[in-house]
Amino acid sequence: MRVDAVSDHEIEQQVLQSLSLDDARALLDRFSTLVRESGSRDEWTAARWIAARLKSWGVPHTLHDPELFLSVPKAASLEIRTPAPRTIRAKTPAFSASTGRGSVRGRVVYVPTGYAEGVESLFDSPIAAAGNGGAGRKEIQGKIVLTEGLATPKKVADLAALGARALIFMNPGQAIHEGICTTIWGAPDLDSMGRKPAIPVVAINRPDGQALKAQVDAGPVEVAVKTKLDEGWKRCPVLVAEIPGTEDPERFVLVHGHIDSWHQGIGDNATGDASLMELARVFWQHRGRLRRTVRIAWWPGHSTGRYAGSTWYADTFAQELDERCVAQVDIDSPGCRWATEYTGISWMSEVDAFCKTAILDATGADASGERPHQAGDYSFNNIGITSFYMLLSTMPEALRKDKGYYAVGGCGANIQWHTEDDTMELVDYDILMNDLRVYVVSLLRVLNAPVHPFDFRLVAQEFGRTLDGYQQQAGPAFDFGPARAALGRLESDLEAFYGQVQELTRRPVGDPAVQTACAAIRRLARILVPLNFTREGRFRHDPAVPIPPLPDLAPAAALARHPAGSHEARVIQMSLLRGTNRVVAALNHARRVVAGEGRN
Ligand SMILES: [Zn+2]
Repeated sequence: MRVDAVSDHEIEQQVLQSLSLDDARALLDRFSTLVRESGSRDEWTAARWIAARLKSWGVPHTLHDPELFLSVPKAASLEIRTPAPRTIRAKTPAFSASTGRGSVRGRVVYVPTGYAEGVESLFDSPIAAAGNGGAGRKEIQGKIVLTEGLATPKKVADLAALGARALIFMNPGQAIHEGICTTIWGAPDLDSMGRKPAIPVVAINRPDGQALKAQVDAGPVEVAVKTKLDEGWKRCPVLVAEIPGTEDPERFVLVHGHIDSWHQGIGDNATGDASLMELARVFWQHRGRLRRTVRIAWWPGHSTGRYAGSTWYADTFAQELDERCVAQVDIDSPGCRWATEYTGISWMSEVDAFCKTAILDATGADASGERPHQAGDYSFNNIGITSFYMLLSTMPEALRKDKGYYAVGGCGANIQWHTEDDTMELVDYDILMNDLRVYVVSLLRVLNAPVHPFDFRLVAQEFGRTLDGYQQQAGPAFDFGPARAALGRLESDLEAFYGQVQELTRRPVGDPAVQTACAAIRRLARILVPLNFTREGRFRHDPAVPIPPLPDLAPAAALARHPAGSHEARVIQMSLLRGTNRVVAALNHARRVVAGEGRN
């Protein structure tokens, strides 16, 4: 039995009461004078500024200095050559091909791809979904494509595959948003380097885009696209603080966010950097109350290296993360104005109930979550780590509509995201305090719960819904029965397992039965997270494109488009058979883990 003098609830209240915004304000004031472009002096200044605070408080920390592969946009232009010469203001996303002093010239063709309705479809590409590779290819081949939206990696990859010579994205509003267009996650390796975009990409604003489209509709338009990017390996700061736990210091929770920014990047992500620093301060102050270790990390290379910092960490500390990491928690764009709601938050199913309760207890607000996107610094899915949060508080949908705001990927849905206007006016300190409360409560509960509060019965339920959906799409053309049967067996084993675990929740963290149960729960994550979020192997990195649930079985959706017995249908069925084999084997492996065998 636990003999704590102070209850978990009291610890929570004590840490919450210690929260202050003084240091957060100081950080935001300092960061508003910097442009934290990755690899720049300002980024180093920012990291050293935080490190100096950590040092003054006595928080143990390491400032790593890896070389990361970055592509930093420097200049771009779009010149109309005919009919009437003029220049349109343009930006280029990171990892566009650089034309350098030259330009890419050609005729413009308009290809509609639409704007994202909400943040959940921001990374989608309707080109492949519509299956118009045949219809579009002839018109697109050798042309410069004008289309809607942000220069997202999937759209760029799809249009490049159809033979476009260059791409022009008309952004959804007055602003031109910065971004990154490669699908390569982190530094390239032999498997991924071929996916680096080979064509120049520019973004223009909506009024300019509509004027250009009107011209294209009226007759032939010839343009020259110029882009200049600084690409290469650059030394960047990776700052990691570590506050050791008192009872099980070997196990750690990783909480992290990116330190680099576009322009001032106050809402994205100086507020997150300030949150991480305040968490370091209060957890250090109450370090005697933490049973497990917390690691707090600030990543470079998020914006211009496709999560290069967190990916470097995942690659460099892979074995430690595999053996000892309990969960990863991402902090991006908290504390922004008008972000009064906790909806659409990224979290995995095993923490669905956990996160809702934590947010309710911390703020009194009801929260809703969704499947994490293949985005943000979720660089740990291939290792298989339970994960929650990325963006947190957000503007209510009605207010967003009211303001005429389109979907963006941060800043609490403020459309100054990824522009020169992401400045101090985006900060709301009351909301930042609420968000800090959410982080404190959520993290403390994972750090201190004897048994990890992750319910994989919820994951099994999610898999059931996924399989039902795929079976419905495939109809009689494929039988998901074997996967269903394996899932059914796992579900009953999970019921038995969590029934036994229930009796351990009041024991100390170091109790051997508690340790065994925790090891099994982490092992479940190592098996089931990769199964649900990746196609590549463990210790690799999947591309930055949308990844459907149980991705091996997702081709079910394509079966209906091909007649039974056709070559295409057979190829899809072959994919599904191999995919089913991976799924069934993984579910059986998970069963052995909860039954106490096969732990490795
Ligand atoms: Zn961000």
